[in-house]
Amino acid sequence: MPRQVSKARKLKWTDLADKGLSASEIRTEDGDNPDLRTVRRAVAELQAARQRQLAREQALVLGLREHWTILLDALSSVPKQGFYWEPQRTRPIYAIDETHLRGDGWTANHSSDGWIIELEFEKKIEIKLLKEHLKKDDFWDLLETFKVDMGKALAARMEMAEYVSRQAAELTNLNIGDRPEDTGLFLVGLNKIDEYISARARGSDLRPPHLSVSGREVTISGALLARGEGSNESSLEPTLSAMIKGLTKSEYWRRLLSTSTRLTQAVISLRHEAEILMISTVLPGECKSCKRYST
Ligand SMILES: [Zn+2]
Repeated sequence: MPRQVSKARKLKWTDLADKGLSASEIRTEDGDNPDLRTVRRAVAELQAARQRQLAREQALVLGLREHWTILLDALSSVPKQGFYWEPQRTRPIYAIDETHLRGDGWTANHSSDGWIIELEFEKKIEIKLLKEHLKKDDFWDLLETFKVDMGKALAARMEMAEYVSRQAAELTNLNIGDRPEDTGLFLVGLNKIDEYISARARGSDLRPPHLSVSGREVTISGALLARGEGSNESSLEPTLSAMIKGLTKSEYWRRLLSTSTRLTQAVISLRHEAEILMISTVLPGECKSCKRYST
């Protein structure tokens, strides 16, 4: 029965073959006169095993690199500078009594603690896995700060919308009407005032919208704002113009301005941190996904 060749001996033969020695030269080096066919077979088997191992390692490196890139690329959808945070499906003036709002990439629910923001960005699987890799990174604190600041800015925004409609009703003694034939104030016009003041808070250099009078009606930038009823007709336009000018003297304006400015800063910091992370080429640790193939 042929003698069993030890693993160490086969490894030594393979090392010699890697150095360029032929089977007969290996046999000479071995000194124990092994069969040439046994030497050749052992060397071929070990070299093939080494090749397979090398290919696996290379595939793992490539796979990990791609995995890291996929996770880091997901950061590109973080809210950007210029991020438009106001409710888009329902304008604030129409949504004063709402407790649930939706914007582009976010939802907000009103609770006893104020507006609680949820971002679609955070629900992405890539972001969840990235969090497992970067458990203690500053980015997550900045993301939380951003959501809190956005909740405060949204609260200030909704309070301003309510203030605009309340002020207009009080100063003109008109109710907010629903039907185009009604006497009163109209949401479509109040919305123009509200959007103007909100744009100012976001840094726009807009001039106050122009009011026009035609008979009993006051329009603002082409939208019906108010329709008077005899006694108050002539005072409607000056009253509403003065109200618009006075909006930036209110506490609601100050709160809207400070929370909007803060939110803009939070977006810039968040984006900056995301960009720093995105140029990393390596992620520390493991997530549920890469754990499967890296062990
Ligand atoms: Zn991973």
